[in-house]
Amino acid sequence: MTKMFKIALPDGSVKEMPEGSTPADVAAAIGPGLARAALAARVNGEVRDITRPFEGDVELALITSRDEKEALELVRHDYAHVLAEAVQNLYPGTQITFGPATEDGFYYDFAPTAEHGPFTEEELPRIEQEMRRIIAADKPLVREVWTREEVRGFFDRQGEAFKAEWVMELPEGETITMYRTGDAEGSWIDLCRGPHLASTGKLDPNAFKLTRVSGAYWRGDPKNPMLSRIYGTAWLNRKQLDEYLVRLEEAGKRDHRKIGQEMDLFHLQAEAHGSVFWHPKGYRIWRELEAYMRRRLDSAGYVEVKTPQLMDARQWEKSGHWGKYRENMFVVPDEIPSTQDDAPILSGDAELMALKPMNCPAHVLIFKQGITSYRDLPIRMAEFGCCHRNEPHGALHGILRVRQFTQDDAHIFASEDQLIDEIVDFCDLLDSVYKDLGFDSYAIKLALRPDQRYGSDEEWDRAEQVLREAVAKAGRNTSEFGWEELPGEGAFYAPKLEFHLTDAIGRTWQVGTIQADTVLPERLDATYIGEDGQKHRPVMLHRAIIGTFERFIGILIEHFAGKFPLWLAPVQAVVATIVSEADAYALEVASKFAAAGIRTETDLRNEKINYKVREHSLAKVPLLLVVGKREAEERTVALRRLGSEERQLVMSLEEAVAMIRDEAVPPDLRTD
Ligand SMILES: [Zn+2]
Ligand SMILES: [Zn+2]
Repeated sequence: MTKMFKIALPDGSVKEMPEGSTPADVAAAIGPGLARAALAARVNGEVRDITRPFEGDVELALITSRDEKEALELVRHDYAHVLAEAVQNLYPGTQITFGPATEDGFYYDFAPTAEHGPFTEEELPRIEQEMRRIIAADKPLVREVWTREEVRGFFDRQGEAFKAEWVMELPEGETITMYRTGDAEGSWIDLCRGPHLASTGKLDPNAFKLTRVSGAYWRGDPKNPMLSRIYGTAWLNRKQLDEYLVRLEEAGKRDHRKIGQEMDLFHLQAEAHGSVFWHPKGYRIWRELEAYMRRRLDSAGYVEVKTPQLMDARQWEKSGHWGKYRENMFVVPDEIPSTQDDAPILSGDAELMALKPMNCPAHVLIFKQGITSYRDLPIRMAEFGCCHRNEPHGALHGILRVRQFTQDDAHIFASEDQLIDEIVDFCDLLDSVYKDLGFDSYAIKLALRPDQRYGSDEEWDRAEQVLREAVAKAGRNTSEFGWEELPGEGAFYAPKLEFHLTDAIGRTWQVGTIQADTVLPERLDATYIGEDGQKHRPVMLHRAIIGTFERFIGILIEHFAGKFPLWLAPVQAVVATIVSEADAYALEVASKFAAAGIRTETDLRNEKINYKVREHSLAKVPLLLVVGKREAEERTVALRRLGSEERQLVMSLEEAVAMIRDEAVPPDLRTD
């Protein structure tokens, strides 16, 4: 008699299926529509091939294109296989290595033959064409279980040295699977954990595009051979691809590095990898932002501190950072270098210090000075703290990912019963800051305990629950705020709330965070005296609203495409003359504006006014005040706004000063 398995479905129903049947059979039994739409299956929580037979009673959920996140990941990995097959068809002798799905598509790393050399972008259209042919052939993607020796022998015979090396390193006891594209003998095959869709025909041949080629070391190690990485973007359908390409083009136009240069805001150079040279105009944005943040913190009851850049390594050992974080720290010997020509510059036996990668331990050291009573809590200790983290050069990206950065950091020391109110207040403050800074929409996520962590399970239970309750109390655990919980994504010492901004072109950026931490106060022995006269441990809330100034200004540049709101714009107005007879009047206008606190420049050059208008638009100056002979006689200005189709507005000098002064007031200081 055939054995029957019980298959429990998400709607609570149970289907009896004979041994040997698959999720695809269940889909077909439910209906032909679902059979067509089903891409893969979640079996007891694990994503699997839809054609993989059940091994017993299970809980089953079918994955369709409506489960966009899973579907995209599956599809992208399929495209990577199709890419690898296409490349090996067209360029025999090319070796395959790895090809994962990425955030917007996939890549595959190849070892080209010596005669061919690295792949080039000119070759991509031909490879795309071959990929389309493989998709059109609708070949099944078949899972096969092999032994390690079989796989090694096979790849050795094929001359696939990288795959043969890799299979020997897979963990003992892991089921080793190969995925074949097609069911014919000798059809293309790759060592792969899966899962995959049922066949290549499930892919939309018009929903992918190969985008670029770069070099990448085998296993990311510069000591290893250089491989040729081919990138592609891939989506569920053509519409999604087209939207993505438009977004990409728009993002290119908004690139903060390009706009930063056009507006003369900052530069980067190899002599200071990952540290920003802020030019006067860029630093003006920084100063306005910092002044704004400082006012908001002052009025929210924070106290501001400044702590050392360098601290002894033993202090970092105590705080636990030395163990978990050392590879990201810049370590400095506490020693004066030798000036003698023949002597070594450093003796090598000095004590070690490290540049701070974060401000937290230093804030605990301030907290521990003197005796703190429960009446002093909560203490909200803020620092615009300059930190260093040693990131590899390849990971750096403009001012978005840097090695020296300044956080809008603060730590709230509180008793357990104050936590929820403190987090609610923080959520309200953050909400108001984001709106002031021009972001209407953001999402809140709760990152839960990771596998590697400090602290007991009870502490984690409590810390996670506090964050959950606080967001509920703030009324923001709703779909409007994209509320979700992310298992495994918390920091090693605490769960955290993450705040993800949505920018003007729909991209999201995680900037804000708050974490309830009991570990660091414990490790550094921070205490306060409770109402009962006994010592208690405070909880430490680590929190940031904009994250770092560098990255946040980068985000602002891209969000506004350089067209900053008046209060943040580095130069707010330029007074430009039409004729040289108006020079004296232009200078008078500029000084009136400057006296009203408006950041003003003059342009008295002997150039056509249209030329001047174009140039200041490119530099994204919000307001242009045009003055000629007539304006000088009538004591008026002709006002043009950046990006406005309206004709220029003529008004008296006094009116213009009053209007612009009002408009330039930072949002938190407005009275209307
Ligand atoms: Zn694979
Ligand atoms: Zn911290």
